[in-house]
Amino acid sequence: MSDFKSLNLLPSIMKAIENKGYEVPTPIQSQAIPHLLKGKDLLGIAQTGTGKTAAFSLPILNRLAENKVKTKPARVRTLILTPTRELASQIDLNVKLYGKGLKLFSTVIFGGVGHRPQIQAMSKGVDILVATPGRLLDLMNDGHVLFEQLEVFVLDEADRMLDMGFIRDVKKIISKLPEKRQTLLFSATMPNDISMLATSLLKDPVRVEVTPQATTVEKIEQNVNLLERSNKPLLLKSILKNRSFKRVLVFTKTKHGADRVVKHLDKESILSAAIHGNKSQGARERALGNFRAGKIRVLVATDIAARGIDVSNVSHVINYNLPDDPKSYVHRIGRTARAGNNGVAISFCDESEVKLLKSIEKFIKCKVPVDKTHPYHGAPPHLSKNPQANRNKNRRK
Ligand code: AMP
Repeated sequence: MSDFKSLNLLPSIMKAIENKGYEVPTPIQSQAIPHLLKGKDLLGIAQTGTGKTAAFSLPILNRLAENKVKTKPARVRTLILTPTRELASQIDLNVKLYGKGLKLFSTVIFGGVGHRPQIQAMSKGVDILVATPGRLLDLMNDGHVLFEQLEVFVLDEADRMLDMGFIRDVKKIISKLPEKRQTLLFSATMPNDISMLATSLLKDPVRVEVTPQATTVEKIEQNVNLLERSNKPLLLKSILKNRSFKRVLVFTKTKHGADRVVKHLDKESILSAAIHGNKSQGARERALGNFRAGKIRVLVATDIAARGIDVSNVSHVINYNLPDDPKSYVHRIGRTARAGNNGVAISFCDESEVKLLKSIEKFIKCKVPVDKTHPYHGAPPHLSKNPQANRNKNRRK
């Protein structure tokens, strides 16, 4: 199925797709949407960046709009459960864009902000509720969210729910959903716990698996800079002076590390902002908004905060620190090759990170080329057969 027309979506949804500039469905969209429109359950093995939000939102909107039902107070017709506030906001934003003109009501619920506006938004019931598990449970327990009218349930990023320790909350929520419903489960990976959950949740599901990680990686130009740790801020500064680095996502290992990078760039008059778990929801959204709008060129993030961030046209990803888990490397650099674009990923690797680099290379099954053209190049001693000799050589430079 090569174009959206053959999917038979409502004209107003087609218009929204056109306005977004999508020309052809991504593989997960073309494989999942026809089945979802028929009401089938779905097991989607896909990560963010594959177009999965539209893959589930479009058929859900189509279904709800074709069969309008008045929602009673606090009732929801569709629940989309997702692990982070950023993902929840993004999904809600997309649902609103794709559903423009359909007269369906959607809202979003997540922690870290006041309860009152969320309770207010639920008071008349909603067609689509996008939520993170903790706050949703709070509001459910107080009777502000009820599921008698539920038709569709989407569990997004199930493996991440597990990683972040939300799976018990998720199970509690599921226990309150009506048996008769359409269920969609998305997960980037399928650890045992998730495949057991899928078996218990899904009835005769269609299974769609897209974008093996290696394919994403292939489209990204990668290189690694070997250098002393103390030179990282200097290299970052010199890289960012190049204006062709238009929209840059910098990853650090820790929240403090992210703040330090922002402070350093600030001194160099390079505008940037950090997003991580210690920042308030408001500050995170502001930073993301400014980055999306191009008001700041550089966003510094930790893995958890950045997971699933949907910013199109990220020109470069810079790994200021290498991640402990090679999978995170793939997730990180995948931010720069969304929906068919190519991208550039630059990694900084100091002596203590050589092992991490090796395990990344093993995981992605290729060597990351070393960039020796920058002024701070110095092979970390571990890369040499004779560490002491290498150290001395570096000193002499
Ligand atoms: P997602 O995996 O849902 O986070 O989507 C990743 C990115 O792909 C988002 O920026 C979407 O706007 C974009 N996208 C989704 N579907 C398409 C499509 N059919 N054509 C082009 N871009 C798309």
